Amino acid sequence: MSDLRELYQTTILDHYKKPRNFGPLPGAERHAEGHNPLCGDRVTVHVRLEGDVVADVRFEGSGCAISTASASMMTEAVKGRTRADAERLFERFHHLITDPDGTAQGDDLGKLEVFSGVREYPTRIKCATLVWHALHSALGDAKEVSTE
Ligand code: ZN
Repeated sequence: MSDLRELYQTTILDHYKKPRNFGPLPGAERHAEGHNPLCGDRVTVHVRLEGDVVADVRFEGSGCAISTASASMMTEAVKGRTRADAERLFERFHHLITDPDGTAQGDDLGKLEVFSGVREYPTRIKCATLVWHALHSALGDAKEVSTE
């Protein structure tokens, strides 16, 4: 577990300092905002779909290291996936960080597995899932939505 904890810290700090896919997305037709009042995290997700595939996704906003790193890694993880596939990934991710037994670990989440460390900090779960909830809203039928 200590290796995972180290990887967790290194990976999250790296994505916090150098967020991937950060900024506006010209041509994006779907947007959603998320706000985590417990921590003060704010995130806006921009999505451009091609048919049913997430052709491009970017995010803006400001927040703590975990929310920023989660947003950065989410954009990398869902780009190129179908909407249904992205939703399934969200379910698995959510399970990974909330499952008290830890049985979801290693469920082909790739780099996202580092977030299993968040289980040890329950107040941080909202930080990690905020951007995924926003993505879920952006991929839904409504074009402009905001989540609390
Ligand atoms: Zn936070």
